[in-house]
Amino acid sequence: MDEEKLAETKAQLLQLREEILAESHRVYAESQTLGKDGVPDIGDMSSNSYNQEVLMNLSEAQRSRVRDIDAALERIDEGVYGLCVRCEEEISPRRLEVRPFSRYCIDCKTEVEKFGE
Ligand SMILES: [Zn+2]
Repeated sequence: MDEEKLAETKAQLLQLREEILAESHRVYAESQTLGKDGVPDIGDMSSNSYNQEVLMNLSEAQRSRVRDIDAALERIDEGVYGLCVRCEEEISPRRLEVRPFSRYCIDCKTEVEKFGE
């Protein structure tokens, strides 16, 4: 995969990640607003614990998506992005376009789903 395409993919992954986190921030803010003790001042919380809580608030599916995205970003940095983590064959560009955070080629994906990792 060429540099330009990689940079593009990286931007796309970061944006996806941002969208998931933004959604969870929104859900978190709503849940706080609905709290029985009135509205807490989010600004008083350390950003670290705030982020922790936001992550707690993600659904299991969203959390695993964020993990997949982080892993894909790491693979970009390591220069192994686009290779199946199981058989090390190249993942088809079409598949990466739909799911840029794919870890497996389609064959391995099918096997992992059937037989587990
Ligand atoms: Zn594979």
